[in-house]
Amino acid sequence: MIVYKHEYYERNKEAIKNKVKKYYMSHREQRAKSDREYRLRNIEIIRERQRLYNIKNKEKVKLRLHNYHVKHRDKLLHDMRIRGKIWYDNLWNIVFRHYSKGVPHCACCGEMDREFLQMDHMTKDRYGHNQSMISHKLYKWIIDNNFPSGFQVLCANCNFGKKMNNGTCPHKTIINAILFPNISK
Ligand SMILES: [Zn+2]
Ligand SMILES: [Zn+2]
Repeated sequence: MIVYKHEYYERNKEAIKNKVKKYYMSHREQRAKSDREYRLRNIEIIRERQRLYNIKNKEKVKLRLHNYHVKHRDKLLHDMRIRGKIWYDNLWNIVFRHYSKGVPHCACCGEMDREFLQMDHMTKDRYGHNQSMISHKLYKWIIDNNFPSGFQVLCANCNFGKKMNNGTCPHKTIINAILFPNISK
């Protein structure tokens, strides 16, 4: 009987394959649904099986992963960049909104254009963070350290002016000169 079945299969291989394929294609939705349900029901078993397979076929899995990365490099990089941007924007918003007590703006002149805004360290030596920290590291450090005082939001213009004018933005010097003309600096 088995021999007979085998012979029958060998003789009609292509026809049987086509029939199976046709059946699967016409029941695609149904199959996807039952596959999904099966996976959900047996998630632990599948994970464990996958884990054991990965250990046993370490090199093969590594190579497959490598090939996948090479093949989809551009898309993966694109996705990574988008995820990175969302992460950075979120960090930026948390920190700048905190020090502006709402909509981020320059504490000196009120500039609100995000591209101009910077974080100014008012008391440079008091904190343990590295002065040369690049922005996202600094923002993360600020959040991790529970928003220490000594920081303010300034626009690039005021920040530069403050540096060039011994720690006071020229805007303030001008305002002081107008408001208090009799007090010399
Ligand atoms: Zn400003
Ligand atoms: Zn200013």
